[in-house]
Amino acid sequence: MKQSTLKMILTIGACVLLGILLAMIVTLNIVAMQKDVEPKKEEEPKWIDIDRQFLTKNEYSRPGEKLSEVNGIVIHYVCNPGSSAQANRDYFELLKDTKNRYASSHFIVGLEGEIIQCIPLREIAYASNSRNDDTISIECCHPDDTGEFNVFTYESTVKLAAHLCNVYNLEPKDIIRHYDVTKKECPKYFVDHKDAWKQFKKDVKEAMEEEIAFNQKQN
Ligand SMILES: [Zn+2]
Repeated sequence: MKQSTLKMILTIGACVLLGILLAMIVTLNIVAMQKDVEPKKEEEPKWIDIDRQFLTKNEYSRPGEKLSEVNGIVIHYVCNPGSSAQANRDYFELLKDTKNRYASSHFIVGLEGEIIQCIPLREIAYASNSRNDDTISIECCHPDDTGEFNVFTYESTVKLAAHLCNVYNLEPKDIIRHYDVTKKECPKYFVDHKDAWKQFKKDVKEAMEEEIAFNQKQN
């Protein structure tokens, strides 16, 4: 073989190798860019974070009966100042052993704004007496005896109530206090302060629109 032919073959070979390398680099970059632009569904920011810790089925706190329909959302306060959402959830869980009373709630909102779900939405909770059959219940933690929610608990409760209104096609007027069912002083601060209760429902209305806008942006 002539030396010039050998040179040509080597040059072509080098060019092909270089080409392959370049193509690999470009492909890897595109894959990396796509990863940046398109996070996986589960990595997308969520409008609301719910920590699902369903209770064990038992007759004292999770009877497993089906909700007939959802016509409203009932707000409660835990009536145990300074207690956490986790402690309240664990108390409901323990009722299966202590058999002290019948009690539970679909959701508990904690002092740091955390939301724990204790009962699946298709089942009833033991929270709202005659309205257990057709409502979703939210228990709220509070720092002191006034029963007023701190800013974190308040914000998360507003978001959760708004989310449930959107899911079930409800209006803020369908959100009621435990007091409206039984005249029990619950949630105390909203029974003592009617203006604050009105404002809460206004805030829920705003949050319902925020969630819709947020979801439209995600899609
Ligand atoms: Zn209550």
